[in-house]
Amino acid sequence: MTSQKVRAQFLDFFKSKEHQIVPSAPMVMKEDPTLMFTNAGMNQFKEYFLGNTPPKYRRVADSQKCLRVSGKHNDLEEVGKDTYHHTMFEMLGNWSFGDYFKKEAIEWAWELLTQTYGIDKDSLYVSVFEGSDDADNLKMDQEAYELWKAIVPQERIIMGNKKDNFWEMGDQGPCGPCSEIHVDIRPAEEKKKISGASLVNKDHPQVVEIWNLVFMQYNRKANGQLEDLPNKHIDTGMGFERLCMVLQGVTSNYDTDVFTPLIREIEKLTGVAYGKSDETDIAIRVIADHVRAVSFAIADGQLPSNTGAGYVIRRILRRAIRYGFTFLDAKKPFVHSLVRVLSKTMGGAYPELDKQHQLMESVIKEEEHSFLSTLEQGLVLLDGVISNTTGKTVGGEKAFELYDTFGFPIDLTALILEEKGFLLDVQGFETALKAQKERSRAASETSMEDWKVLQPNTGQEFVGYDQLKVKVNLVKYRKVTSKKEGGRYQLVFDVTPFYPEGGGQVGDKGHLESTGGELVHILDTKKENNEIVHFVKELPKDVEQPFTAVVDEPLRRLTACNHTATHLLHQALRAVLGTHVEQKGSAVNDKYLRFDFSHFSKLTADELHEVETFVNHRIAAQLPFVEHRDIPVKEALAQGAMALFGEKYGDKVRTVRFGESIELCGGTHVRNTADIWHFKIKSESAVAAGIRRIEAITSDAVKALYQKNDQQLSQIRQVLNNTKEPVKMLTALQEENAQLKKQLEGLLKEKAKGLKSELLKEVKKVNGVAFLAKKVDLDAAGIKDLSFEMGQGREDLFLLLASDKGGKALLSCYISKPLVAEKNLNAGTIVRELGKHIQGGGGGQAFFATAGGKNPEGITAALAQVEEYLD
Ligand code: ATP
Ligand code: MG
Repeated sequence: MTSQKVRAQFLDFFKSKEHQIVPSAPMVMKEDPTLMFTNAGMNQFKEYFLGNTPPKYRRVADSQKCLRVSGKHNDLEEVGKDTYHHTMFEMLGNWSFGDYFKKEAIEWAWELLTQTYGIDKDSLYVSVFEGSDDADNLKMDQEAYELWKAIVPQERIIMGNKKDNFWEMGDQGPCGPCSEIHVDIRPAEEKKKISGASLVNKDHPQVVEIWNLVFMQYNRKANGQLEDLPNKHIDTGMGFERLCMVLQGVTSNYDTDVFTPLIREIEKLTGVAYGKSDETDIAIRVIADHVRAVSFAIADGQLPSNTGAGYVIRRILRRAIRYGFTFLDAKKPFVHSLVRVLSKTMGGAYPELDKQHQLMESVIKEEEHSFLSTLEQGLVLLDGVISNTTGKTVGGEKAFELYDTFGFPIDLTALILEEKGFLLDVQGFETALKAQKERSRAASETSMEDWKVLQPNTGQEFVGYDQLKVKVNLVKYRKVTSKKEGGRYQLVFDVTPFYPEGGGQVGDKGHLESTGGELVHILDTKKENNEIVHFVKELPKDVEQPFTAVVDEPLRRLTACNHTATHLLHQALRAVLGTHVEQKGSAVNDKYLRFDFSHFSKLTADELHEVETFVNHRIAAQLPFVEHRDIPVKEALAQGAMALFGEKYGDKVRTVRFGESIELCGGTHVRNTADIWHFKIKSESAVAAGIRRIEAITSDAVKALYQKNDQQLSQIRQVLNNTKEPVKMLTALQEENAQLKKQLEGLLKEKAKGLKSELLKEVKKVNGVAFLAKKVDLDAAGIKDLSFEMGQGREDLFLLLASDKGGKALLSCYISKPLVAEKNLNAGTIVRELGKHIQGGGGGQAFFATAGGKNPEGITAALAQVEEYLD
């Protein structure tokens, strides 16, 4: 059964059980501060479990892209070493939000596996939570046990502990006991020898967990305590690649059709066959796995970078490159060539891969180039470390420095050292690494109190498109403390005019006004799990009274100018450069706008001018803002609205239109493009391979810029005696200046010639050396030229020339090369020592060196002393 069919049958099955099939959420998280990446199918439904919003459907099923490389679920180090953990994988899931519970979940899972997919009943084991006698003091899951007993023989029901049978997404939030389903795919003879039951949850590669049915019934609070959720829910997750392994009768996820095309391509590109040795097999699996994770992330809009989620992606890619480099002898970029195969095999189910494959390829290629050169540099640095090592052990801090500052992987360091007969102080490395982790953990630590709920949450309303000042009531609040921002409170209101950060636009700022006149500043607004939270430094004195919430109007207005201008800029780029231009990111605030887009070369001055003019024409055309709220997403797309990959859209969306182009957008805009006044590009640059960035300003910022330019121009005019034509005059001055320079150079040359013959006359013999020490009226370059000219054709000259041009002291020592060896003289040492007189230092080569200092008075003493060197 092909993987495509496996996926389709899962969804069809739950469709037949009245589930709504929904698309996968993006893999990169935007609205949940506790998670960087989606790590389970349930993430996108967290708001329903928490009761923030009523669920749209009571039963849902999907296939979700997950990434487990950070936080509570981190499988990175297993990947490649085993055959059934991936960084990025698909999780098939079915959900009940306060609808069916354990009975249906268990019975349907069994029906699907044994009847629809036809998996042998006798190869399946299930587990049930046994309870815990720790602080949570939980009872055994009797209900699940009874349900399983009705369909599975007792000896294949296994009691499991908290680690395996109590599922938690993070340190806080919804959780509950679970039942896992494991499958034993060992050959019959082996099954006879050792019972499958004894291998469940024992990391056996052929007795693996495929499906986890979580019975959500608790919420883990900040203090660690569990409370009952208002409703009970079902959350299940089945590993798609593992299921394919079982159904395709193979014993490794990498032998399924999900991976074999990638593995064949890696074999082709590196010339290393899969199945030859453990070491090369691991490397091939690592690469096949990681290229998926990185490609999916890029398609979702997350480029590799130096911070946050981008850094995680960069590290995954570097892990792949390094395995190739070390074990497959791949010293040239090749991972990017796998993207084509990936988009061919998975582009059907995930069209973003198809659409963006060129970008994925060029971004990965550039990363490969730069990391391979880092690796090469690292090898050189490592050689240096080795030659400075006394004994046979290289210090852990040295290895840590290579790792931390150059990204040079520690296992590679260890391997190379071993090959060269050295040992690595692993302990020292671990200590340094731990200290650094501790530092960054302490710096980013945040602690959250539980919400204090003041009134039932009946769903929050955003009214900020139409109003900036509204009467509100506080629904709940909590304290959040972080190292970075100190203690802040998060407030949630029943209704709010404040726009939460999103779609590139910053969150609104403003204030709360109480009836007594107390003012509380709102510092920021964000969306978390589909709730709009407002950040304040201090709580209002009385939290139960009604408030007036007021958005800072000037900030909002300027931000709107920049947001609308961003849309016009997008239109302009597509018109001027072509429709390959796609938005890759944006940032809009009251001061400026930043727009990242796909395009493969630097924009020319003409193109930039054309883009600017296009936008300014739209502004001059006074285009009105046309908005549609709550239209079905299908309808919006049919009208030609562009959706962005990596954004999560609901069923109903908002479209905004200025002129002919329609866009999906939740941001705030001007009523008419004329409000923007003017648009000015400030810079154009590269962000990554194939991605350009434009920064621009509008409205008041352009006015301020023009005012500043105007002022500067009048100052220039004044300096130029109020000329009417400053450009003409400046050009003339520049030409004159160039001519004068030329003349001066000629004169100086003449002078130097004269000086040379004069000085040569002053040279005297000291101990067989032609010697001269003298102060001259030349700069450093002049002295150098003079010294070399005087030295030409001579083998016995020793010169110390000094000058005090511009109040700075300079000593310059020239020694004919034969003299250097013969008399064991060193100009570098000499100027360094004489430099003391002029309070300075310097150096250079043995035959020519200079020193600068801040004490010209010392020159005489230096000139007097130098003769000593010839004694
Ligand atoms: P395991 O113990 O095998 O790591 P898990 O307990 O972490 O699994 P869950 O969090 O319950 O798994 O996830 C649900 C299902 O997702 C699992 O039953 C498994 O089939 C699949 N799964 C989990 N982690 C991975 C992974 N890293 N790669 C591929 N599939 C996975
Ligand atoms: Mg796991």
